[in-house]
Amino acid sequence: MIDKKEKQEKTIIIGSGPAGMSAALYAARANLEPLVLSGMELGGQVSVTHIVENYPGFPEGIEGPKLVENFQKQAERFGTKVEFDSATEVDLSTRPFRVKTWGNEYLAETLIITTGATPRHLDIPGEKEFTGRGVSYCATCDGHFFQGKDVIVVGGGDSALEEGLFLTRYVNSVKIIHRREELRAGAILQNRAFKNDKVEFIWNTVVTEIIGDGIVDTVKLKNVKTGNEEELKTDGVFIFIGHIPNTDLYEGQLELDENGYVQVDRFMQTSVPGVYAAGEVADSHFRQVITSAGMGAGAAMQAIHFLEDHS
Ligand code: NAP
Repeated sequence: MIDKKEKQEKTIIIGSGPAGMSAALYAARANLEPLVLSGMELGGQVSVTHIVENYPGFPEGIEGPKLVENFQKQAERFGTKVEFDSATEVDLSTRPFRVKTWGNEYLAETLIITTGATPRHLDIPGEKEFTGRGVSYCATCDGHFFQGKDVIVVGGGDSALEEGLFLTRYVNSVKIIHRREELRAGAILQNRAFKNDKVEFIWNTVVTEIIGDGIVDTVKLKNVKTGNEEELKTDGVFIFIGHIPNTDLYEGQLELDENGYVQVDRFMQTSVPGVYAAGEVADSHFRQVITSAGMGAGAAMQAIHFLEDHS
């Protein structure tokens, strides 16, 4: 239970990615002096993206960390407070809502949840070591760096096929490695992939290790039916085996969908009035900087209206 003396805020934003910082910008410009709890990684997934080339306004693209810095500066310019702290406990049963962090305890008249989603990892040797050095979780972000290369994609869902097909714009070949011999992906994507000359499937197979010298060079594969093991040379390993929304704190307090994403209506309203969610924590479909930013702005606009109606 939270029992220390709490600091009261009009709006607390949990998370500092594009959704959180856009929400902060809009809330700050309405003089709410929002508090952003940045989480462990200021900027979220964008902070580990080499370059963002599909966010309008930057014709030459912009490095992920620079975009994060710009988001923060712009939000702070209008009065946003950014704390390098993480929410560890929330109580949404009464308003103002209670938020406990590593360092403090707060009361929030409105809450905007933008805690994002984490790409599911294979958890195999080499995966962490080569992330950003040939291992990627985002074809849209990194595909461009694999011009004329041979890459593998791991997964059999819509993301694996969609991202694998996207990669064919750049790469010489894509081998899609799936642990079964039936795809989870929808029929349209399956047909497109089967028809694409650059795409090949390796069925009933898992990747057990990623090997390289500074950058990815080889993967170890295991056929789950025969037990046969082999090595495959590759320049890149794109992993699309689903995402895990960061919603642990809200379980039992907010309605989540069957995959754990926060359920929101088109006004970013969650099942608790005054609590909004935006970005990938509430969106398993688009997952782009621009769509998250748009959701964040919308959530803040609704929080502003809510505070006007409840003052
Ligand atoms: P997903 O549908 O959960 O598929 C994940 C895939 O990864 C599955 O094929 C699964 O294999 C495989 N997988 C999971 N854990 C693995 C592991 N440890 N090792 C190897 N393989 C593993 O995830 P998603 O493709 O990201 O899609 C998420 C949601 O977004 C879905 O509802 C999807 O329809 C939607 N989406 C839609 C579109 C579109 O409509 N264009 C595009 C992207 C995503 P199994 O099949 O054996 O379980």
